Amino acid sequence: MARIQVDTPCFLCGTAAACGDTDHGNRKFYQCSAEDCGDYEISVAAIRKLKGATSHRQQLKRVAHDHRGTDTFVEIIVGADNQVVATAVKRYSGRRR
Ligand SMILES: [Zn+2]
Repeated sequence: MARIQVDTPCFLCGTAAACGDTDHGNRKFYQCSAEDCGDYEISVAAIRKLKGATSHRQQLKRVAHDHRGTDTFVEIIVGADNQVVATAVKRYSGRRR
């Protein structure tokens, strides 16, 4: 992960989070400091789709929280059917870095 910004508002809950660009700027990795949120990587396309979707963001926040403290994090992307999909990914897999 290249530059990491601290105190960026979490996309899912708005709490202060660390955020870094991944995948050549096509995705962002968030590490949220909120107890009920978590770590996730989200694509720019998914951010665009979820901007006005508050209830969907809250649902994803719970998914991110489920993976807090585990060896996985949540990857949130727009799938082939144009729907937002969240998948658990192993940390430090190195497959995209
Ligand atoms: Zn959060």
